[in-house]
Amino acid sequence: MNILVINCGSSSLKYQLIDSVTEEVVAKGLCERIGSAGACITHTPAGGEKLTREIPMPDHDAAVSAVIDCLTDEETGVIHSLGEIGAVGHRIVHGGERFASAVLLDEEVIAAVEAVSALAPLHNPANLTGIRACRKLMPEVPMAGVFDTAFHQTMPPKAYLYALPLEYYRDYQLRRYGFHGTSHDYVSARAAQLLGRKREDLRIIVCHLGNGASVSAVDHGRSIDTSMGLTPLEGLMMGTRSGDLDPAIITFLMDRLDCSAGEVLSILNHKSGVLGLSGGISNDFRDLTKAAAAGDENAETALEAYALRVGKYIGAYAAEMGGVDVIAFTAGVGENDGPMRARISEYTRFLGTSIDPERNKLRGEEVILSSPEDAVATMVVPTNEELAIARQTLAIVEAGAQGKL
Ligand code: ADP
Repeated sequence: MNILVINCGSSSLKYQLIDSVTEEVVAKGLCERIGSAGACITHTPAGGEKLTREIPMPDHDAAVSAVIDCLTDEETGVIHSLGEIGAVGHRIVHGGERFASAVLLDEEVIAAVEAVSALAPLHNPANLTGIRACRKLMPEVPMAGVFDTAFHQTMPPKAYLYALPLEYYRDYQLRRYGFHGTSHDYVSARAAQLLGRKREDLRIIVCHLGNGASVSAVDHGRSIDTSMGLTPLEGLMMGTRSGDLDPAIITFLMDRLDCSAGEVLSILNHKSGVLGLSGGISNDFRDLTKAAAAGDENAETALEAYALRVGKYIGAYAAEMGGVDVIAFTAGVGENDGPMRARISEYTRFLGTSIDPERNKLRGEEVILSSPEDAVATMVVPTNEELAIARQTLAIVEAGAQGKL
C-alpha cells in the first residue's frame, strides 16, 4: 500500500509517498509560501529529477491539489490515480493528554485536536488545515493522526508536573508534554535493534539534536522523561531557542527593553540559543564550527555551552533510570556533527562512554561509536519520522479495517 505522509505547517506542506511493503520513498516534496505570491512546489520522484513549479496556492486545498497533480502527472508522476494512495498519515504536533498513540481521524478526533490547539497555537491549527484539505480532496482515503507528544505520555506525574499550584494543571492542563516523540520512539527502537537487543531490556537516552532539540530517557521501552515541556522552548539550548532559563528573565527583559511578554518570548524562540550566544553568528553548527576554528571565542563558547547542556541532561537521565545502557544521537546535528558528539562525550565519560575518533567522522549513517567493552553503547541512528508515521498509519488503518478500533 502507498501511504502519503503529510507534515503541514502554516505556509508549507512537506510530503512523502511511502510504499508500506518495501518502506521505500516513492516520491517526496515540499509546497512553500502557501497563501502568498510566488508559491511553489518541489517534487522529487524516486530515482528521478527534482522539479520545481510555481503554482498559485492561495490555501492548503490548492497545495494538496498540487501534490496530487505532481504524484499523478503523466510524465513526472509515480501513480496513475488517487486510488493508489491507500492511506494518509498526518503529523500532528500536540495531542494533549488525550492521545497516547496514533489514531484514525474522524470528525470527533479532529474536534479533540482542535480542543488542544490552545496548547500549540502555532502548530495544531496548521496541522488541521492540512487534514481538512486532504479529507476534502480524498474523502475515501482513511487517514491517521500521529502526534509528536504521544510517545511521552508514559511520563509519570513526578516528571511531567511543574512545581506550580496544582490547580493550573487541573484547570488548564499546564504540564510538561515533550515533543519529537515520533523520533525518540523510532530511534530508541532502532538503536536496540542495531544492538540485537530488546528495547524492553534497555535504558536508552536519545539525543535528538536538530534545529529544535530534545533529549529523552527511554526506560525499558517507555519514555519516562524528556527535556521539552509545555512547549518546545524548554530544555536544551537550540539553534535559536534558549531552552531552560530563570523565568524571572522574562519580566527583567520586559522592563529593560520596554516590550511585551510576547516580544520577549519571540526573543527566546528566535534570537537565542547558539545564534544568540555566539553574538549572532549563526544557528547553523557548520558556521559555528568554522568560526570557532578561526578563533572566534563567542562561537567556541556557544558550542561548548551547548555540549554542556546536553551532557547535563544525559547525566540527569542516567540518574533517573539508575544507569544508562545506550546513548543515541540523531537529527541534523546529532547525525552529522562528529566534533559536537565528541564534545558531549567529554561530559559523559564518567558513565563509561567512549567514542572511536575514526567512526565518529561518519555522517548521517547508522554507526556504533563505542567499543564492545564499554559500559554504555554510544551510537548514531539517523531519524526517519516519515517512515515512523507511515508505519503507525498502516497499523492504525489495518486495525480499523479489521474492526479493532
Ligand atoms: P529541524 O529541527 O529543522 O528538523 P534538522 O534535524 O534538519 O532540523 O537539523 C538542522 C541543523 O543540523 C542545521 O541547522 C545544522 O545546524 C545542523 N547540521 C546539518 N548538517 C550538518 C553538518 N554536516 N555538520 C554540522 N551540523 C549540521
